[in-house]
Amino acid sequence: MLDTREFISFDEIDKDGPQSYGRSYSISPTELDRDEFVNIGPVALVAQARKGDLPAEYIVEGTSKFTADLACSRCVEPYPFASSSTFHLRFRRRPDLPQREEEELEITPDELDIEFYSERAIPLRELALEQIQLSIPMKPLCGENCLGLCPQCGANRNRETCSCDQSMMDERWGALAEIRQAIKKRES
Ligand SMILES: [Zn+2]
Ligand SMILES: [Zn+2]
Repeated sequence: MLDTREFISFDEIDKDGPQSYGRSYSISPTELDRDEFVNIGPVALVAQARKGDLPAEYIVEGTSKFTADLACSRCVEPYPFASSSTFHLRFRRRPDLPQREEEELEITPDELDIEFYSERAIPLRELALEQIQLSIPMKPLCGENCLGLCPQCGANRNRETCSCDQSMMDERWGALAEIRQAIKKRES
Protein backbone atom coordinates (compact mmCIF):
# COMPACT_ATOMS: atom_id res chain seq x y z
CA MET A 1 0.00 0.00 0.00
CA LEU A 2 1.25 3.44 -0.87
CA ASP A 3 2.21 5.41 2.21
CA THR A 4 0.68 8.87 2.10
CA ARG A 5 1.32 9.95 5.69
CA GLU A 6 3.14 13.25 5.93
CA PHE A 7 3.98 13.06 9.62
CA ILE A 8 5.38 10.73 12.21
CA SER A 9 2.61 10.97 14.77
CA PHE A 10 3.60 10.23 18.36
CA ASP A 11 -0.09 9.88 19.26
CA GLU A 12 -0.43 7.18 16.61
CA ILE A 13 2.58 5.34 18.07
CA ASP A 14 1.10 5.58 21.59
CA LYS A 15 -2.17 4.16 20.30
CA ASP A 16 -1.09 1.59 17.68
CA GLY A 17 2.57 0.80 18.48
CA PRO A 18 5.65 1.12 16.25
CA GLN A 19 5.13 2.61 12.79
CA SER A 20 6.98 2.28 9.48
CA TYR A 21 7.11 4.97 6.82
CA GLY A 22 8.31 4.91 3.25
CA ARG A 23 8.19 8.15 1.29
CA SER A 24 9.79 9.68 -1.75
CA TYR A 25 10.03 13.47 -2.01
CA SER A 26 10.95 15.76 -4.88
CA ILE A 27 13.24 18.45 -3.57
CA SER A 28 14.25 21.68 -5.22
CA PRO A 29 17.85 22.88 -4.71
CA THR A 30 16.43 26.19 -3.46
CA GLU A 31 14.95 24.43 -0.42
CA LEU A 32 18.41 23.51 0.79
CA ASP A 33 20.52 26.26 2.28
CA ARG A 34 23.64 25.03 0.55
CA ASP A 35 24.72 26.72 -2.69
CA GLU A 36 26.50 23.57 -3.83
CA PHE A 37 23.34 21.84 -5.07
CA VAL A 38 23.07 22.25 -8.83
CA ASN A 39 20.20 19.80 -8.96
CA ILE A 40 18.90 16.94 -6.87
CA GLY A 41 16.82 13.87 -7.61
CA PRO A 42 14.00 12.62 -5.41
CA VAL A 43 14.98 11.57 -1.91
CA ALA A 44 13.80 8.16 -0.71
CA LEU A 45 13.14 8.09 3.00
CA VAL A 46 12.45 4.92 4.97
CA ALA A 47 11.86 5.27 8.69
CA GLN A 48 10.70 3.28 11.67
CA ALA A 49 9.40 5.02 14.77
CA ARG A 50 8.73 3.60 18.21
CA LYS A 51 8.61 4.59 21.85
CA GLY A 52 11.91 5.17 23.62
CA ASP A 53 12.91 4.14 27.12
CA LEU A 54 12.14 7.49 28.71
CA PRO A 55 8.65 8.93 29.12
CA ALA A 56 7.64 11.01 26.08
CA GLU A 57 10.73 9.81 24.20
CA TYR A 58 10.48 8.39 20.67
CA ILE A 59 13.12 6.67 18.55
CA VAL A 60 13.19 7.25 14.81
CA GLU A 61 15.63 5.26 12.68
CA GLY A 62 15.95 4.77 8.99
CA THR A 63 17.76 5.51 5.77
CA SER A 64 17.73 8.31 3.25
CA LYS A 65 18.95 7.98 -0.34
CA PHE A 66 19.35 10.50 -3.11
CA THR A 67 21.51 11.48 -6.06
CA ALA A 68 22.49 15.05 -6.83
CA ASP A 69 24.84 17.21 -8.85
CA LEU A 70 27.06 19.24 -6.56
CA ALA A 71 29.27 22.15 -7.54
CA CYS A 72 32.89 21.42 -6.66
CA SER A 73 34.14 23.86 -4.02
CA ARG A 74 37.43 24.32 -5.91
CA CYS A 75 36.63 24.34 -9.64
CA VAL A 76 32.85 25.07 -9.42
CA GLU A 77 32.13 22.30 -11.99
CA PRO A 78 29.10 20.15 -11.17
CA TYR A 79 29.85 16.50 -10.44
CA PRO A 80 27.51 13.57 -9.66
CA PHE A 81 27.05 12.70 -6.01
CA ALA A 82 25.15 9.73 -4.58
CA SER A 83 24.27 9.37 -0.93
CA SER A 84 22.84 6.56 1.11
CA SER A 85 22.91 7.17 4.83
CA THR A 86 21.32 5.84 7.97
CA PHE A 87 20.06 7.93 10.85
CA HIS A 88 19.15 7.28 14.43
CA LEU A 89 17.29 10.04 16.23
CA ARG A 90 15.80 10.37 19.66
CA PHE A 91 13.00 12.83 20.09
CA ARG A 92 12.38 14.21 23.56
CA ARG A 93 9.86 16.75 24.68
CA ARG A 94 11.33 20.24 24.75
CA PRO A 95 11.74 21.17 28.42
CA ASP A 96 9.55 24.01 29.65
CA LEU A 97 11.37 27.30 29.89
CA PRO A 98 12.69 29.04 31.89
CA GLN A 99 14.72 26.23 33.27
CA ARG A 100 16.43 26.22 36.64
CA GLU A 101 20.15 25.73 36.35
CA GLU A 102 20.33 22.50 38.31
CA GLU A 103 17.77 21.03 35.97
CA GLU A 104 19.74 21.78 32.86
CA LEU A 105 19.98 18.73 30.70
CA GLU A 106 23.40 17.29 30.40
CA ILE A 107 24.04 15.99 26.93
CA THR A 108 26.52 13.10 26.88
CA PRO A 109 28.37 12.22 23.67
CA ASP A 110 26.06 9.32 22.83
CA GLU A 111 23.10 11.66 23.09
CA LEU A 112 24.14 13.95 20.26
CA ASP A 113 21.36 12.53 18.12
CA ILE A 114 18.68 13.97 20.39
CA GLU A 115 16.15 16.36 18.96
CA PHE A 116 13.64 18.22 21.07
CA TYR A 117 10.04 18.43 19.96
CA SER A 118 7.21 20.66 21.01
CA GLU A 119 4.72 19.32 18.46
CA ARG A 120 3.83 15.63 18.67
CA ALA A 121 4.04 15.23 14.90
CA ILE A 122 7.30 15.25 12.93
CA PRO A 123 6.96 16.18 9.24
CA LEU A 124 8.64 13.43 7.17
CA ARG A 125 9.60 15.91 4.47
CA GLU A 126 11.51 18.04 7.02
CA LEU A 127 13.27 14.91 8.23
CA ALA A 128 14.29 14.12 4.64
CA LEU A 129 15.59 17.67 4.08
CA GLU A 130 17.58 17.52 7.31
CA GLN A 131 19.17 14.22 6.30
CA ILE A 132 20.16 15.63 2.91
CA GLN A 133 21.87 18.62 4.57
CA LEU A 134 23.75 16.30 6.91
CA SER A 135 24.94 13.89 4.24
CA ILE A 136 26.77 16.24 1.89
CA PRO A 137 30.42 17.07 2.56
CA MET A 138 31.40 20.44 4.06
CA LYS A 139 33.55 21.16 1.03
CA PRO A 140 32.36 19.08 -1.91
CA LEU A 141 35.19 18.10 -4.28
CA CYS A 142 34.87 16.66 -7.79
CA GLY A 143 38.02 14.71 -6.99
CA GLU A 144 40.76 14.61 -4.35
CA ASN A 145 43.24 16.06 -6.85
CA CYS A 146 41.06 18.84 -8.24
CA LEU A 147 43.35 21.70 -9.22
CA GLY A 148 40.66 24.36 -8.95
CA LEU A 149 40.51 27.63 -10.85
CA CYS A 150 43.37 29.94 -11.70
CA PRO A 151 42.98 32.90 -9.33
CA GLN A 152 44.12 35.25 -12.12
CA CYS A 153 42.17 34.29 -15.26
CA GLY A 154 39.61 31.84 -13.82
CA ALA A 155 40.66 28.99 -16.11
CA ASN A 156 39.75 25.51 -14.89
CA ARG A 157 43.19 24.10 -14.21
CA ASN A 158 41.90 20.53 -14.48
CA ARG A 159 41.29 21.14 -18.17
CA GLU A 160 43.74 23.75 -19.33
CA THR A 161 47.10 25.18 -18.44
CA CYS A 162 46.91 28.94 -18.55
CA SER A 163 49.92 31.11 -19.18
CA CYS A 164 49.40 33.52 -16.26
CA ASP A 165 50.47 31.04 -13.55
CA GLN A 166 54.13 31.06 -14.30
CA SER A 167 54.47 34.78 -15.03
CA MET A 168 52.62 35.66 -11.81
CA MET A 169 55.07 33.52 -9.89
CA ASP A 170 57.99 35.16 -11.67
CA GLU A 171 56.66 38.62 -10.87
CA ARG A 172 56.31 37.73 -7.22
CA TRP A 173 59.81 36.30 -7.06
CA GLY A 174 61.01 39.35 -8.93
CA ALA A 175 59.46 41.67 -6.36
CA LEU A 176 61.00 39.65 -3.56
CA ALA A 177 64.41 39.85 -5.19
CA GLU A 178 64.10 43.64 -5.47
CA ILE A 179 63.28 43.93 -1.77
CA ARG A 180 66.28 41.77 -0.93
CA GLN A 181 68.47 43.99 -3.07
CA ALA A 182 67.15 47.11 -1.32
CA ILE A 183 67.83 45.60 2.10
CA LYS A 184 71.33 44.61 1.10
CA LYS A 185 72.06 48.13 -0.17
CA ARG A 186 70.87 49.65 3.09
CA GLU A 187 73.00 47.24 5.11
CA SER A 188 76.17 47.90 3.17
ZN1 LIG B 1 36.78 20.38 -8.86
ZN1 LIG C 1 45.33 31.75 -15.40
